[in-house]
Amino acid sequence: MNTSMNRRNFIKKASIGAVGTGMATGISYANNHPDTETEATTIKEYRRFGRTGFQVSDFSSGFPTNESVLKALLKNGINLIDTGEVYMNGNSERIIGNVIHEFDRNKLFINTKLYTETSFPSKEAVIERTNQSLKRLKTDYVDCMMIHSAENSAILKDEAFHAGMEQLKKEGKVRFVGVSCHGNNWAYNTDENLETILMAAIEDGRFDVILLAYNFVNADIAEKILDACEKKDIATIIMKSNPVYILDSLETTMGRMAEKGKEPDKYTQAFYDKYKQMNEGAQHFFAEYGITDEKELKDAASRYVLSNPKAQTTLWNFENFDDMENILKLSGQKLSEKDNLVLGGYHKHLGHTACRIGCNDCEAACPHHLPVNKILRYNYYFSVKKQEKRAMTKFARLNTQKPSDLCSDCEGYCEKACKYGVWTRPLLVAAQNNLDFVV
Ligand code: SF4
Ligand code: SF4
Repeated sequence: MNTSMNRRNFIKKASIGAVGTGMATGISYANNHPDTETEATTIKEYRRFGRTGFQVSDFSSGFPTNESVLKALLKNGINLIDTGEVYMNGNSERIIGNVIHEFDRNKLFINTKLYTETSFPSKEAVIERTNQSLKRLKTDYVDCMMIHSAENSAILKDEAFHAGMEQLKKEGKVRFVGVSCHGNNWAYNTDENLETILMAAIEDGRFDVILLAYNFVNADIAEKILDACEKKDIATIIMKSNPVYILDSLETTMGRMAEKGKEPDKYTQAFYDKYKQMNEGAQHFFAEYGITDEKELKDAASRYVLSNPKAQTTLWNFENFDDMENILKLSGQKLSEKDNLVLGGYHKHLGHTACRIGCNDCEAACPHHLPVNKILRYNYYFSVKKQEKRAMTKFARLNTQKPSDLCSDCEGYCEKACKYGVWTRPLLVAAQNNLDFVV
């Protein structure tokens, strides 16, 4: 089959594929977008932030790790800062506290979070932990206090949390209440996922702001939640907007194994061979569209999320000034038709490498109860976000059996159960190779 025929066939498929879901949810295409090389690195678009009434920048700051970078972001128009008591043992909140006194507090929206694995011990403990956050943040109030990474819907009804929030709101220390979610924790509930947990939060009525994973590969899950938020005028914050990552992580794993003279197991090797073949197809396809590096794919992925007005602000972990330059150039941009086709190509050629964050569908099929989605999300932190230490710490805390001991010889029940066709077995083994440094 000649190239033009391939391309015509692909275009036809792409228009009804996952990326095409954007069209069904109100995403409109830009005919073109500004030249990213010449655009100033400032925020160019603000949006109404649900019922909070705040006008939020289209990009916002993920938990800050550097005072100078945060200061520059705020000077360049970012006005929402996300953090949490657990990030860097409270130091992320301290960084914010050292910076915000130079800015008009009324024009900033600070979102922080309290984490619990099961339930909060008491109203008093919730109030005390919030007061500790305020002290670190050096501010009298937070704009939003969230339950951090709710892993089941029971936690949404936690009486101690809500009683604490009620009192803190009366005292003017908390303005709004929210929840963040990555999906469930297998150990507690096999029936829940991102969608069921956040739909329960929306239904509850007490949550004003919702923080969720949304990108062009998990759109079928996340866009239902965004639609429901819009109906109740709940503010939305997006995380994990960029799933473009597998292109080098498997290469890295194989390279590390080769350096140590270790043979990959048969599934990893078979996956790698097949992946290379699929990747070659992908590169050929991308070349047709003039895409020569991963950054262009990542920019297109960002524009996919930016183009959905229901995704009101997108968090980004700005680690340095280069990140700021690269990302803020995209502010105000919209998905182009070329972006849509290119992301469709990624989906078709490489979608089998992307576990959809917030989906837990296959975990019930695993006889060893491995938290597939969580392990692959931690690998995303390691490989894409380059947060190696954080990812490894989280993996160690899972205290789960090792995928390398189980998955290589397994029939792949999870793989068979995955409606997205994700190649879970080798991906889990590769994830462990990253997170556990076993090779
Ligand atoms: S490959 Fe088998 S052992 Fe590994 S997560 Fe899937 S079902 Fe469980
Ligand atoms: S491997 Fe597939 S079914 Fe399992 S969590 Fe990921 S996307 Fe969902």
